[in-house]
Amino acid sequence: MKPFSLTNYAGHIQLHSPFVPGTAAGLSQTCLVDALLAELLHSCTAGDNQSERRALLDSLLTQLPPDTLSQQGTALLDALLQAEAAGRQITRVEDLPPFLTIGTTKVVLWQGDITTLKVGAIVNAANSQLLGCFLPGHKCIDNAIHSRAGVQLRRDCDTIIRLQGHEEATGLAKITRGYNLPADYVVHTVGPIVQGELTHYHSQRLADSYRNSLEITKEVEGLRSLALCSISTGVFGYPIEHATPLAIATVANWLRENPGQLDALVFNVFSDRDYRTYQAELEEYICNN
Ligand code: ADP
Repeated sequence: MKPFSLTNYAGHIQLHSPFVPGTAAGLSQTCLVDALLAELLHSCTAGDNQSERRALLDSLLTQLPPDTLSQQGTALLDALLQAEAAGRQITRVEDLPPFLTIGTTKVVLWQGDITTLKVGAIVNAANSQLLGCFLPGHKCIDNAIHSRAGVQLRRDCDTIIRLQGHEEATGLAKITRGYNLPADYVVHTVGPIVQGELTHYHSQRLADSYRNSLEITKEVEGLRSLALCSISTGVFGYPIEHATPLAIATVANWLRENPGQLDALVFNVFSDRDYRTYQAELEEYICNN
């Protein structure tokens, strides 16, 4: 292909003219930021593109520090999230077929977005700040859960972290309400981060995350079902083929040690590959037990 040389475009971008910055006489830097935000919001809200406006709102909310949105703003967001949830297909845990039964607990393998599952509690793969992901548009489960629950989730997690006085240790779990999610509660656990070789430490902490997520259900009356995501196997880098048998063995042991505690336990997976991995490991578990 013929190179597109400077002479072809220099005139179009006034390459050889000095740059003269625009001015805004008398406006403070604060005013300039406000004016620019207003302009950006206006240009994104002008026209008819609802999905662009919604994405902009989502990215602003993702970056919002805890407890910043006013009471009125929070109520408006609740109304929006409730309306959106009503338009989404929701899966009820009661309607899911069992893969196997351990004691009296129905164990389910379910592929889908955990924020569309109506279940007692869902498990969030959180980070040690527990505040959710601050990266707009980042496709992690933490972001999905926080953005659909509403700002109260970040506020509650911030309250917990401030009360305990330090970040959350790997392998522990905390619980909050689910707010605008179909799930009643969210269990927040911090799985291990694997960089380089997988060690005994990683497997111990991953097992802790599963066990503590299960244990905390005992402390909430009436909590009878739990959906576990595939903790640590995304951004945190725990190989799914090692995480899956560990997750299944840990959960199965806990269910045997705590008979009658849960009516349903869901292994929630997102990708086809993860589904196949869990399916094979659960079949293997059935063969061996
Ligand atoms: P971690 O930081 O613990 O690795 P990630 O969010 O990166 O957490 O991934 C954890 C798991 O959650 C991965 O298997 C990923 O595919 C899955 N996941 C991501 N988004 C969703 C979602 N909306 N619903 C269910 N699972 C999800």
